[in-house]
Amino acid sequence: MNAARYDESTALVVVDMQNDFAHPDGSLFVYGGDTLVGPINDEIAVAAAAGTVVVLTQDWHPPSTPHFVTYGGVWPVHCVAGTWGAELVDGLDPDHRASAVIRKGTNGEDGYSAFMMRRPGSSTDIATGLAGLLRERDVERVVVVGLASDVCVAATARSAAEAGFGTVLRWELSRPVDASEQTCVEVLADLDRAGVAVTGAP
Ligand SMILES: [Zn+2]
Repeated sequence: MNAARYDESTALVVVDMQNDFAHPDGSLFVYGGDTLVGPINDEIAVAAAAGTVVVLTQDWHPPSTPHFVTYGGVWPVHCVAGTWGAELVDGLDPDHRASAVIRKGTNGEDGYSAFMMRRPGSSTDIATGLAGLLRERDVERVVVVGLASDVCVAATARSAAEAGFGTVLRWELSRPVDASEQTCVEVLADLDRAGVAVTGAP
């Protein structure tokens, strides 16, 4: 699949470009995330001009959730519903081309993938509604960008491929939480196994 191919049967999913990840003052700032706003806006413009469905996602947590380290999870508090940290980063999608915003984790789930969530301690996935939305629009291919490459972007791309969409992850329009070579190699191998095409990989 040609990564640059955008048309009406493609969706561009922009993952978690929110202050807590993409702004240097964010609680879980992903290094380099702030530099993605311009290039992702350019990508949104190209995609939207070709009739592609553009979807933005937000990590969106209640103040206390087992997703956070303070409640037994692994992450510092981030993207609490209604706070500055959870807002989309300033300047993203200035022309409002996105046709939907998908929020994940709203009820305390671990919401890594934009397609699926899971209650901590449970083994049952809960759909976010994104796959249904894309199928309603006859989408066949999904392009994933945003934050963070090794966490929510990778999880979203894997889910998209599992749901049957031809999937491309644009690594160059993404940044990892853990930039170590080992993590990168592992994440890329996992994506390869899942059938996700990756462009711009290191
Ligand atoms: Zn989260």
